[in-house]
Amino acid sequence: MAEVTWRSVAPGVFVRRHEELKLNCGLVVGQERALVIDTRSYHEHGLELLAAVREITDLEIVVVNTHAHYDHCFGNSAFRDSQIYAHVGLVDDLLRTGEHQREQVVEHLRATDREEMARMMEETELVPPFYLVEEDTVLDLGGRTVELLWSGRGHTDHDLAVAVPDAHVVFAGDLVEEGADPAMEDSYPLEWAATLRTLLARPAAELCDLWVPGHGRVVDRAFVEAQCAQLTQMAERFTEVLDGGLAGVDALVSACRGLGLEDQTLRDASLRALELRP
Ligand SMILES: [Zn+2]
Repeated sequence: MAEVTWRSVAPGVFVRRHEELKLNCGLVVGQERALVIDTRSYHEHGLELLAAVREITDLEIVVVNTHAHYDHCFGNSAFRDSQIYAHVGLVDDLLRTGEHQREQVVEHLRATDREEMARMMEETELVPPFYLVEEDTVLDLGGRTVELLWSGRGHTDHDLAVAVPDAHVVFAGDLVEEGADPAMEDSYPLEWAATLRTLLARPAAELCDLWVPGHGRVVDRAFVEAQCAQLTQMAERFTEVLDGGLAGVDALVSACRGLGLEDQTLRDASLRALELRP
């Protein structure tokens, strides 16, 4: 197993990709504060991340959670001394789904013989962010700013991206995924592409060519545009089938074969599209 280390992608901008889930956490270091992006899956994971941050900087830490999925925010308990930012929708989601997410993950960990992790997950206290973003927010880290951007519904209804304009880097959370299909279980399949297009065009993001997905390798703008095109086609085909009436999961899935998305992804997206249909 490769050693987990920070990788510098621009001056003072670091990415730490973890073996578990290929999850990316980010670190942006200013002159007065350092921003940590996402906190991993449970308390001990968070503590380990915090120790890794402290190898890079002693500055005051500010945290942002990109969304409410456990792997991005259950490690918050290790950062309870910090200001933790998130979109206001994250808190609603976490309160509604947090315990259910925990149960599902614990069950999966036990089923795959990872009892110790299951126990740590069970014992983790959920710590909701309390600096809540309702509109785009600029954070001054001292000598550099970052922008927290909500561009519409996509992977969830509250995905925040973090742009670092001076470094031309965007941390996209799970709005962008590398190495696996975008995860659709809580998504807005008909809106996701438009949200990505909006994000790509934001002033803070439009010149950015380094995009850090929630999972997988750091990608360039062309990769994000390609994922956006794929999601656009999926949405168009879904809309055609839905407008034709009598739509079921199978019809939606088969309409999207050939787009390069796995059947399970299309199935999850179809279920969501039907669930969200007015
Ligand atoms: Zn997610």
